[in-house]
Amino acid sequence: MILFLPKDIWENKQGAPFGETPYPLKVGYHTGQDFHTTPVGKIPVIAPCNGYLTTFPFSKSAGWWGYFKFNHNGEIYSLKILHMYKQMKDGEYKAEDVFGYCGATGLSITKKYGSSFIGESHEEQTSDKAVGHLHVELHKGEFKHETNQVKELADERIIDPIINFEKWVNEMLSKNTASPAVSEKQEGPIQQSKTVDFKEQKEIRQKEEKPSNLQSKTDNSVWVKIVEMLREWLKVKK
Ligand SMILES: [Zn+2]
Repeated sequence: MILFLPKDIWENKQGAPFGETPYPLKVGYHTGQDFHTTPVGKIPVIAPCNGYLTTFPFSKSAGWWGYFKFNHNGEIYSLKILHMYKQMKDGEYKAEDVFGYCGATGLSITKKYGSSFIGESHEEQTSDKAVGHLHVELHKGEFKHETNQVKELADERIIDPIINFEKWVNEMLSKNTASPAVSEKQEGPIQQSKTVDFKEQKEIRQKEEKPSNLQSKTDNSVWVKIVEMLREWLKVKK
C-alpha cells in the first residue's frame, strides 16, 4: 500500500477536509478530502495497490471521474477520484501505475466567480473560474452512486481517506521492517524502510504555522529546527 498522491502534495496541499460541516452538499458534510493540485494536468494520481478502475462519462459536477476498487486485508474499498484533467481508462492497475493527472473539470467554486462548471479544455481548466484540485473519497465496499445522496448510507460507508491511508501505509511499513521475508510483491514495492509519523509531522507543521501564545520564542525555534530536520529527512528519502 502506498499513497495515491505524491508525498509533497499529500503533506502540504490538503484542502477542505473530510467531514467538514459548512460544505453545501446533500448529506450535510464534505464526503471526501480535497487536495490543491496545480498546475492542472501535472500532478499524477497513483494506484495505491493492485485493483480495478471504473470510469464514467464527463459529469458537470464531477468532471472526469471514476473509482478504484481494491482489496485490503480481505476487505473491499472503493476510492473515488473527481475533477481529473482528462478521461481515464477502465481496467486493472498495479500499485504505482498512474490513473491520470489532476485537473479542474466539473464543479468549481471560487470566491470571485461563485460556482462554475468547467469543461474539458485546458483553457477552461486554467481559467480564473477553475480551481485545480482533487476531491477523493474512500468508500467501504463496492461503490454505490446513492451513497452520496443519503445521509445514513454516507455515514455508514464513507470514511476518511487521510486517516485510513496513513494507517495502512504505516502498518505495511512496520510489517515489512519486522519481517522482511513477507511477500512484498502482493502489496507493491515499498521504498521507505521506516514508519512515517504523519500525525507528528502534521502537528509540528500546525505549531509552526500557528504558535500558541503560551509558547516562548525558544520553544518556537526548537520546533523550527525539528521541522527543518524532518524536511531534510524527507528530501533524502526522495
Ligand atoms: Zn471536495
